[in-house]
Amino acid sequence: QSTLKASTKDAYPDWKAGDPVPYAALCTTFSKIELTTKRLEILALCAAFLRQVARLSPEDLLPTVLLMIGKLAADYAGVELGIGESLIMKAIGESTGRTLKIIKEDQQKIGDLGLVAAKSRANQPTMFKPKALTVRGVHEGLMKIATTEGQGAQGRKVDGIKKLLSAADVGLAKGQTIDININKGGPSEAKFIIRALEGKMRLGLADKNLQVALAHAMVALDVSPDGQKVPSEDQLKKGEEVFKAVYNELPSYEVIVPALLQGGIWKLRAACKLQPGVPLKPMLAKPTKSLGEVLDRFEGKDFTCEYKYDGERAQIHFVAHDSEQSFATTVAPSAGKSERGVSNIFSRNSEDLSKKYPDILSKLPTWVKNGTKSFVLDCETVAWDVEKKQVLPFQQLMTRKKKDVKAEDVKVKVCVFAFDLLFLNGEALVNKPFRVRRDLMYNAFEEVEGEFTFAKYGNSREIEEIQTLLEESVKASCEGLMVKMLDGVESHYEPSRRSQNWLKVKKDYLAGAGDSLDLVVLGAYFGKGKRTSVYGAFQLACYNPDKEVYETVCNIGTGFSEAMLAELHETLSSLVIDRPKPFYDHSEGKNDQPDVWFEPRFVWEVKTADLTLSPRYRAAAAELGTDGVHKGVSLRFPRFIRVRDDKKPDAATSSRQVAEMYRKQESVGKDKKPAVDDDF
Ligand code: ATP
Repeated sequence: QSTLKASTKDAYPDWKAGDPVPYAALCTTFSKIELTTKRLEILALCAAFLRQVARLSPEDLLPTVLLMIGKLAADYAGVELGIGESLIMKAIGESTGRTLKIIKEDQQKIGDLGLVAAKSRANQPTMFKPKALTVRGVHEGLMKIATTEGQGAQGRKVDGIKKLLSAADVGLAKGQTIDININKGGPSEAKFIIRALEGKMRLGLADKNLQVALAHAMVALDVSPDGQKVPSEDQLKKGEEVFKAVYNELPSYEVIVPALLQGGIWKLRAACKLQPGVPLKPMLAKPTKSLGEVLDRFEGKDFTCEYKYDGERAQIHFVAHDSEQSFATTVAPSAGKSERGVSNIFSRNSEDLSKKYPDILSKLPTWVKNGTKSFVLDCETVAWDVEKKQVLPFQQLMTRKKKDVKAEDVKVKVCVFAFDLLFLNGEALVNKPFRVRRDLMYNAFEEVEGEFTFAKYGNSREIEEIQTLLEESVKASCEGLMVKMLDGVESHYEPSRRSQNWLKVKKDYLAGAGDSLDLVVLGAYFGKGKRTSVYGAFQLACYNPDKEVYETVCNIGTGFSEAMLAELHETLSSLVIDRPKPFYDHSEGKNDQPDVWFEPRFVWEVKTADLTLSPRYRAAAAELGTDGVHKGVSLRFPRFIRVRDDKKPDAATSSRQVAEMYRKQESVGKDKKPAVDDDF
């Protein structure tokens, strides 16, 4: 109750209705959040702040929400921060009149660019007090930096950063110094601006928490605008449920926040519905180790086994010109327009893929039946051999250009394999059974060989028949099977969830090689012998989204050709940084340090013999608990498979997944292997 009470009081007393939200107020909230690890406290602090913004300066609620989760816009807008360290250091130096050399020295000592910036500003004599920053101003400034492109972009980005930093307050009282030892620097605006630029706020404020906090804020405001009454647990829970249900179908603060402000939380469900043009976060599958496990899970239920095509996830949205449904206008500057209607394609990460697949959009009218006026379709795009009329390996698809593709120039043809329908003719289908969704899908579209096909499936419950289907899928260049529940609530589409109701069975699991992981490259070791001029091995990490930290999981030196190592050396050299980022959780051991560290940019798919507890690596340490000797999980005999261009570092295998894989392996009673965790 005390946390709830806190969220109904204004946290920041001196700002009046209609004032723009002071950025200092947001930073004060950030610094309070930084001092706690308790989720309920974080939620209460956030909710209190959001409630105050919604009450006093509602027009600033959207930028406040976005800055809180370290974003500038929804993913589909394609605006990204994650500015490289060298540009940030340059800007800190230039805006504070210190040389780059000194900034670099500070960075070596402190290791957190946010604190380096705060310290540089604190040391700077100020002639006059700069005009206070506002949340809206900072959001606009960051947006400008993120969207600057073309010639001289780097210089203009540096100018943009300088402008923000010069106006930033350091957040220190007179005579107070920054306590870098505890890695906290007070409510420093400079520090949080740098963190936003780096793309990691490190406040433990994941999107999921923010959804809850925003729901609580709106419930509190509804129950008692003057903050005199505290909402009940029940009211808060209901508010959360409403918000989550809406966000699942329409993950866009750009649409939800104005609706919240206009009608409040209880009218949100009616105001915001799944809408073509706003991509849903895709449903994901859990790995299984055997067909036996699949049968155990789905015992007594009807399920279906589909081919697991090896291409790129694609969510296709369409609205016909003569439909009553509208295409979301907040999105899709490049949406494909044809004589039939407006369409767009979104990736697994909700990025706009219309510039990559104009060929799909231009052919869309040939496979959409006339009565189909609006839809959202879940599919896999797969490279297609036109002559042999068969699927090509994933690597072929990766050779396609990513942007500004002209439909007539396309060399690698793709076929769309549709496997789910989430919206049809003005109605959301996510809460209908899969059997119904699939029937509707078969009726709404027409197959066109080599261009649009339904994912192949079989509904057998006999293990021999499933085994045969699995073998056939592999022969057809697929990765294996996706097994899905057919009926009831369990078969509903669960956006953004890695669900038990979708199981993947890859041919490799069955060979005993284990699931593959998608890991972020954090560092490298110089090669020895034949490999002296390149990196010979790399340090990889999984991602912990709750803490916004990359946790090291292995060193890898196997699976690379010489040519590939040369290429990797070239691309990675430009990403070298002086020391690990503060959001790299890695061993401090003297002998465990890679020769170079990188900006986090690349995701690689890696196979492993199995997972083991390790004294050196940090993956999933919080999930599994440490025992004094072992710090986390590591991979035994990891092998490089391929670069995952379609995944961003934050979409890497999560610490939770690593923990799950480890536990599963333990529970199947595998012999425990000694903790030898490197193969080089
Ligand atoms: P990976 O693709 O490496 O297995 P992932 O994390 O990208 O991992 P998963 O949830 O593990 O995704 O596997 C599901 C993916 O498989 C989907 O994202 C989709 O791209 C692809 N896929 C291929 N065929 C199907 C299908 N019939 N049903 C659902 N997904 C499919």
